Amino acid sequence: MAFRKNPRTLLLKTTALAAVAAFIQGCAQTPAQQPPSEATIAAHVAAATRDAGTDLAPLLALCKPAPAAQPPQAELDKGLRALIDKPAPPPGKAFDNLYFVGADWVSAWAIKTSDGIILIDALNNQMEAAALIEGGMRRLGLDPAQIKYVVVTHGHGDHYGGAPYLAQKYRARVVMSEADWTMTETKLEFATPVWGAPPKRGAGDMSVKDGDRLTLGDTTVTLYITPGHTMGTISPVFDVTADGQKHRAMLWGGTAFNFGKNVPRLGSYIDATRRMGTVAEAQKIDVLVSNHSGYDGSQGKLAALRQQPAGAANPFVIGTPAVSRALNVMGECAQAQRDRFVLQ
Ligand SMILES: [Zn+2]
Repeated sequence: MAFRKNPRTLLLKTTALAAVAAFIQGCAQTPAQQPPSEATIAAHVAAATRDAGTDLAPLLALCKPAPAAQPPQAELDKGLRALIDKPAPPPGKAFDNLYFVGADWVSAWAIKTSDGIILIDALNNQMEAAALIEGGMRRLGLDPAQIKYVVVTHGHGDHYGGAPYLAQKYRARVVMSEADWTMTETKLEFATPVWGAPPKRGAGDMSVKDGDRLTLGDTTVTLYITPGHTMGTISPVFDVTADGQKHRAMLWGGTAFNFGKNVPRLGSYIDATRRMGTVAEAQKIDVLVSNHSGYDGSQGKLAALRQQPAGAANPFVIGTPAVSRALNVMGECAQAQRDRFVLQ
């Protein structure tokens, strides 16, 4: 029969069968202990797909095969320019004390405290920092002159590009991990003229270690180092309130596997997702946000918040089980990618 003669169909059927078999095996025993194979890759993708459900489906983009090498410079510049050229969404208030002041593809978040503002990430360049961070804050009734700290989640220019401008203008202190300070001071992982220059470490700037706490007024942000996306990626954890009700939020500081074929780094990423899964359970973290809205759906959630009546459930509150599932999805996709690289 034509159906059976089609080799692509057969291949798909075989892969699907292998996936099912591996999935069943994976339920009983973690596939991480098995030697990498097409079956272990399929099992990790199946586990990620199961954990993602429909609510976390955007995270499954991570399960697509990642490139083994960085793109050529011209391609990188062109791709970034196209992303930056997309019209920005309106700024928005996610919680009583957490505000989105981002671009279309990369986010910046402002945490309002009783003694000023902690800004998390600074977008691609000075122009965006002026238009979207300063402009967005003003539209939301926040004063950019109150920015006391700029936490740069990691040393890629879509997060630090606007930092020097804001730091200088408002005497804000730049906060980065030592690993990523060193990376930006020595050899940039991604260098492109599209981004603003990295911040120069000044006397007031801070190098943070895993678990360091940044306190401003009534707010303490715990800075976890979650290595992988870069080796010094910071994932801040802090309290937010919605209609006076307290929740605990984690901002995952670096998501994509865009560093090329690097198996140990994926190992670090996997460990970081597991470790933060434990932290999420222990601290009952029920809000997970990202610095790229493609992963956390923040633009859609902000749009929903704008339209819903006061007192309705905040869509950013997803619950601790969903936060755990999200970390599992990222960890399983990282395991699939590690196995792919090992087999290459
Ligand atoms: Zn990055």
